[in-house]
Amino acid sequence: MKRMVTRAETPGPALWQDGWYGYARCLPSPNRNERPPASQVDLIVVHSISLPPGEYGGDEVQRLFTNTLDWDAHPYFRTIEGMKVSAHFYIRRGGELWQFVSCDERAWHAGRSQYRGRPECNDDSIGIELEGLEGEAFEETQYEALASLCAAIAQQYPVQHIAGHEHIAPGRKNDPGARFDWDLLQRSLPWPAGCFPGPQSTGGEAVIGLRK
Ligand SMILES: [Zn+2]
Repeated sequence: MKRMVTRAETPGPALWQDGWYGYARCLPSPNRNERPPASQVDLIVVHSISLPPGEYGGDEVQRLFTNTLDWDAHPYFRTIEGMKVSAHFYIRRGGELWQFVSCDERAWHAGRSQYRGRPECNDDSIGIELEGLEGEAFEETQYEALASLCAAIAQQYPVQHIAGHEHIAPGRKNDPGARFDWDLLQRSLPWPAGCFPGPQSTGGEAVIGLRK
């Protein structure tokens, strides 16, 4: 695994501290709990979100993840009223990175799910939300931020798989959707092809030696 040499040489925040990434804006969410004992965080789950759907630039996602969204502010919000959810990370259209939950803890992003032969993906995955709409394209800056974040996560956690919400909850979830460019992400990361979701991926392939 290629190390982030330029950052390591520059004085600045530690790359990781108690599961918090030093280059993300930190906004702690109450929607989290402990991971099961001895869980191996080996999966990154990519999502897309925008509130209201398709509208970018506001602070509604941060509000949703911190239980401060005004359910009356938009008719769509009524359909998700009371939802207590979170993700570890959120990447905005311009590449700005937010973190809501320590990666050492369990965020609530996957829901009922199964991948690489194991259920309950929240237990041992890291969830990354991209500001966007499933079925729509994402920005180049978002791919750059995502690839850099994935590389940093793999320095700290034994990542062996990366998949979309649609791959871990097929039929129930469709994000990030068909226009998310998995090939571009794959070209941006020095990871074996087996780490990435195939056309009908179930994450069943054994992949080793990813970490460093
Ligand atoms: Zn999702």
